[in-house]
Amino acid sequence: MKLIIASGNAGKVREYKALLAPLGFTEVLSLKDAGIVSDPEETGATFEENAAIKARALKELCDCAVLADDSGLEVDALGGEPGVYSARYKGIKTDEEKNEYILGRLAGLPDEKRTARFVCVIHFIYPDGKEVAARGVCEGIIGREPLGENGFGYDPIFMYGEKSFAQLSQEEKSAVSHRGNALRDLLEKLSENK
Ligand code: IMP
Repeated sequence: MKLIIASGNAGKVREYKALLAPLGFTEVLSLKDAGIVSDPEETGATFEENAAIKARALKELCDCAVLADDSGLEVDALGGEPGVYSARYKGIKTDEEKNEYILGRLAGLPDEKRTARFVCVIHFIYPDGKEVAARGVCEGIIGREPLGENGFGYDPIFMYGEKSFAQLSQEEKSAVSHRGNALRDLLEKLSENK
C-alpha cells in the first residue's frame, strides 16, 4: 500500500519507512518524493489538532494513505510551554537560544520542579478516509546546561535519567522517545485494523 508522510524531513521519513514496511506499506514517500506541496497553517491548540490538520490537508491532495505528526516539549514550571509552539517558541531563532531561554527561566529551581515531557501525536488516514490517532510521551527533567552533540531541538537540555537526549544514539533515543512510543502505539492500532 502507498503511504505519503506529511513531512520534508528525510530522517523522519526513513524512520517511518522502516517501521511501517512490515505492515504492508511498501511505498512510503515524503511530500518531496511524491511531488506534493502541502503546508497548512498549524492553528490547533493541541498536538492532536495540528497533526489532524496536516494529515487532512494532505489527504485532500491524494487518494492513498497519509500520515502526519506533531510534537514538542512541555515544561511544567512554564505552564506547559513551549508546547505546540515548540518550533516557533517566542520567535526565538536558533535551538541554542531557545534552550538558553528555558534554562534561564528555570534558573535556581530544584530537580523536582524541573519536570518536563516530550509529546508526539501521529495522525494516520487510510485511503478510504478512516482516521487513526496515536500518541507517545517521554517524561524527563530539564537539565542545568546543554549536554551532548546528537539529536536536535531541545535534546541537549532534556535529561532522561543520567543522560540528555543529545547524549543518546538514535537507537537508544527511539527505544524510549515520544516519537518511538507514538509509532509503537500506531503500529498496534493499525495491526488491530488489519
Ligand atoms: P515538529 O513536530 O516537527 O513540528 O516539531 C516541533 C518542534 O518540537 C521541533 O522543532 C523541536 O523544537 C521540538 N521537538 C520535537 N521532537 C523533538 C525531539 O525529539 N527532540 C528535540 N526537540 C524536539
